[in-house]
Amino acid sequence: MRLLVADHPLIAHKLTVLRDERTDSVTFRNLVDELVTLLAYEATRDVRVEPHEITTPVAPTVGSRLTAPRPLVVPILRAGLGMLSGMTRLLPTAEVGFLGLQRDEQTLDAITYAQRLPQDLTGRQCFVLDPMLATGNTLAASIDYLLDRRARDVVCICLVAAPEGLRTVEEAVGQRAEVTIVTASVDDGLDDRAYIVPGLGDAGDRLYGVV
Ligand code: URA
Repeated sequence: MRLLVADHPLIAHKLTVLRDERTDSVTFRNLVDELVTLLAYEATRDVRVEPHEITTPVAPTVGSRLTAPRPLVVPILRAGLGMLSGMTRLLPTAEVGFLGLQRDEQTLDAITYAQRLPQDLTGRQCFVLDPMLATGNTLAASIDYLLDRRARDVVCICLVAAPEGLRTVEEAVGQRAEVTIVTASVDDGLDDRAYIVPGLGDAGDRLYGVV
């Protein structure tokens, strides 16, 4: 597993506002959108392109274009949905799959309540969106769904990660695939409710309210 911590000053500034408990829901949503676009820039560094011939008003030239098969973006519901538009803005040709997982607050296990993914992901680059990499159980289960469908190139974008979650994902993936985690911050750890410290609280609630 590869870990990439994007420590750009703009990312650090936006993340600090996001963490602040006084930040309201509208500002929070806008900041998540902006942060994902900045992280997506790093996360798509190895996205596949092919040569593409065009003619400018001055001369013919060979540029690049995103190539087939189209990348797959998978937001993990509910909070990952808040990251989707920031990602597809940078990757307009991507297809979007969905995984709905929530954690059992007693056992901390990941429970799947929705999934819509292509059956065969051979050769597809997959981008998983999950704002909080806490215990790692949800992300590890999500990656399993993709590897079961023969994906071998998976990049996960998490706003904040805990060291415990990174270890869990690394052990769960092993040598099965090339998995990269892109995050704005590796925080101190988890509290006794498995919330990330200092973290930013419940990302889903802060995006969408308590429902
Ligand atoms: N999920 C969240 O939304 N926040 C955490 O800190 C951990 C899991």
